[in-house]
Amino acid sequence: MLEFAENQSTDRVTLFVNVILPLAISRLYTYRVPFELNNVVAVGKRVVVQFGKSKLYTAVIDEITTIAPEKYEAKYLMEVLDDRPVVTSQQLDFWKWLADYYLCNTGEVMAAALPAALKLASETRIMLNPDGNFDRSLLHDKEYLIVDALDIQPILSVSDIVKLLGQKIVMPVLKSMFDKNIIHISEEVSERYKPRKRSYIKLNPLYNEADMRRELFVELERRAPKQADALLAYLKLSRNQSLVSKNDLMEESGVSAAVLKALSEKEVFIIEERNVSRLYYDEFEMGANFELSPAQSNALDEIRDHFIQKDVVLLHGVTSSGKTELYIRLVEEALHNGKQVLYLLPEIALTTHVIERLRKYFGNDIGVYHSRFSDNERVEVWQKVLNHEYKVVLGARSSVFLPFDDLGLVIVDEEHETSYKQFDPAPRYNARDAAIYLAGKYQAKVILGSATPSFESYFNARTGKYGLTELTERFGGVSLPEIEVVSIAEEIKRKVIQSHFTSVLMTDIQTALSNKEQVILFQNRRGYAPVLICRVCAFTPKCINCDVSLTYHKSSSHLHCHYCGYKEDNINVCPACGSTHLEYKGFGTEKIEDDLQVLIPDSRIARMDLDTTRARNAYQNLLNDLEEKRIDILVGTQMVAKGLDFADVTVIGIINADSLLKYPDYRANERSYQMLAQVSGRAGRRGKQGKVVIQTYNPQHRVIDQVIRNDYKDLYLTEIDERKNFKYPPFYRIINLDIKHKDADKLYQQAEYLAIELRKHFGDRVIGPEYPLVGRIRNFYIKSIMLKFEKDGVSIVKVKSVIRDIIVQFQTTPLSKGCIVQPDVDPY
Ligand code: ADP
Ligand code: ZN
Ligand code: ZN
Repeated sequence: MLEFAENQSTDRVTLFVNVILPLAISRLYTYRVPFELNNVVAVGKRVVVQFGKSKLYTAVIDEITTIAPEKYEAKYLMEVLDDRPVVTSQQLDFWKWLADYYLCNTGEVMAAALPAALKLASETRIMLNPDGNFDRSLLHDKEYLIVDALDIQPILSVSDIVKLLGQKIVMPVLKSMFDKNIIHISEEVSERYKPRKRSYIKLNPLYNEADMRRELFVELERRAPKQADALLAYLKLSRNQSLVSKNDLMEESGVSAAVLKALSEKEVFIIEERNVSRLYYDEFEMGANFELSPAQSNALDEIRDHFIQKDVVLLHGVTSSGKTELYIRLVEEALHNGKQVLYLLPEIALTTHVIERLRKYFGNDIGVYHSRFSDNERVEVWQKVLNHEYKVVLGARSSVFLPFDDLGLVIVDEEHETSYKQFDPAPRYNARDAAIYLAGKYQAKVILGSATPSFESYFNARTGKYGLTELTERFGGVSLPEIEVVSIAEEIKRKVIQSHFTSVLMTDIQTALSNKEQVILFQNRRGYAPVLICRVCAFTPKCINCDVSLTYHKSSSHLHCHYCGYKEDNINVCPACGSTHLEYKGFGTEKIEDDLQVLIPDSRIARMDLDTTRARNAYQNLLNDLEEKRIDILVGTQMVAKGLDFADVTVIGIINADSLLKYPDYRANERSYQMLAQVSGRAGRRGKQGKVVIQTYNPQHRVIDQVIRNDYKDLYLTEIDERKNFKYPPFYRIINLDIKHKDADKLYQQAEYLAIELRKHFGDRVIGPEYPLVGRIRNFYIKSIMLKFEKDGVSIVKVKSVIRDIIVQFQTTPLSKGCIVQPDVDPY
């Protein structure tokens, strides 16, 4: 890196910057630096550049150089947006590593890494911040114009604003408006979010005068002593704090809200609603303490011992064994050593409950980062990590991208979770693996936690690459739930099954309800019925964009495609033959909910799946309702399997385990074990032993037996040989290429061509091309090529560079027209 900032004599040197653009392009682009900015440019700062005909982008400076590009004349960069770098050099290295490892472009990584508000571009959308209370009279002319325009048209693109102001460079104005909280910046039209509001009390300025105040007080003493108390309390509090919150005042004075309301009606108090900073919390109690159990203490000692030799430790602890408490101890140590901590959780597990629990110990040192945050909130977290205000980040997948510079510890809880893997778009990264790499850069330690580890991690632990620490008992001696397997076929034969509920499950549900306990039912499909079929001609409604049948959703009375979101009206008459004999096949969460409500009419049933949790707070609201016992039975998809911890949930029903046992994938058994064990782990977590009912057509299935015996190791040992024999991870690495085209014939040729090229280098390590399970999605036909590389004796770095070259070469041929090639490294 060249450093010019301090050197005045460089004023007249011609400088260039190589920048990363947030686009899927394979190279860095070079721009010329105007002389007057020579002292301003620095690696990691953002600049505004023109790319293509007229589009403006925010790019990040990767390098400063005096070398002009050879093949094109560099345009001038237009503006430097930052006073100091917002991206650290370690992050830039990390981005490059991710791009190399996952066979994508640094620009795609940048696009995923930076919050939208940090990468303004022509198409970025601007809207007024709904809770920005700014003073319009203080706006500059340009700001005023923009605000004015947004009043009329709530969403404008950056290019609209270019036209509005009649000037090309608008990013600095927008940036400053964003910093002042006037606008929102978003890549798409996102839902508005509700700010946190709190009421504050102010004294009417009239009573700032001592005489008036005395008079008022005497008056109140006489007629409304409670109100006098409130006034006194206010005066006391306002001596030490500029803002007196309604809650504080009620606590201090012991008066009710009605008293304050009366005072506000008398215009003594002015009550103001204010937005509290979205990220500041003052309602936690610090230092709540706990003692580790002997088993936990041993585990902690063991982890520390491992860390002497090893960088990564796998903590294999059964559900509810108290892994979180171990994490807390380790975080404390890291903080004590002045280090930063990254604590990863699957998105869905990042509930208020978990966040509050950790805030108790780490207070405002802890920042939270996940996709439900607005852009403003994300940028706030970004800045606070950059400024070291946050020392611990509790976050989902994308928090690996935050600007850490002194990581000491990384925790990946539920490390087996598939949601750590980003499927789409690129970078198709696994946050667990990325975090391990990131930790390595800082010599930070990593702890992976799970009750059902991924085979990759368990393999690494057993072969000594990672340390392995086990916690085999639940905290507080609570026993693991009793699991009963019920044969659906048997119950059908005996005619005791009602709808989808076996007599065993029904009895257990009834017992739980009569004990005022709660039930969770798991069905891994949403909607009402996944297939609608004409009994006369066998017609089935299909998606117009994808090769899948449409799922009937009763709540919307539409047929939905779960791949592309396409919807159409439900049908009562077969469009092919005119028959009205239409049959619903299969069943999803909606039908379970419906049927159960008929069977147990007076129970309060709720449903938790993608459809009921789209709104910003819906998921949290469902959890609150469960916690506060406004729900007796919760029916849900795998969402209910993730980290829920409720004292009164004593019965778990798995409506149909067979759908889990039939993944068309080499991981089928690993996955179904994980799912069954995780769902079961929701039962009886505190105090009471729980009961799990597994309904299945395959009661003898080996995996079910292993779940009952809680024998993960047995599962692993029976599976691992097959993995080896059939050349799968953890012995082999897999790279998939998905090839897509709107024309099936062209796709066929393209896929064949690529397979031939790949075979030239890799021989029979290339499998396919084959049609995937769903051969067409969103009007693109798909073919997949799978590549398998043995871990020993093959340089995966070289392999990837060959694959990259083949794809690039293919893309220069006319054959590749309209074709999309998507590499997926370590697919899940
Ligand atoms: P896991 O993450 O392993 O599933 P948790 O950390 O959630 O388990 O612990 C399960 C329950 O036991 C929680 O309610 C937790 O508060 C409680 N618990 C665990 N360890 C302790 C401890 N040392 N002292 C008090 N309570 C604990
Ligand atoms: Zn028909
Ligand atoms: Zn579709």
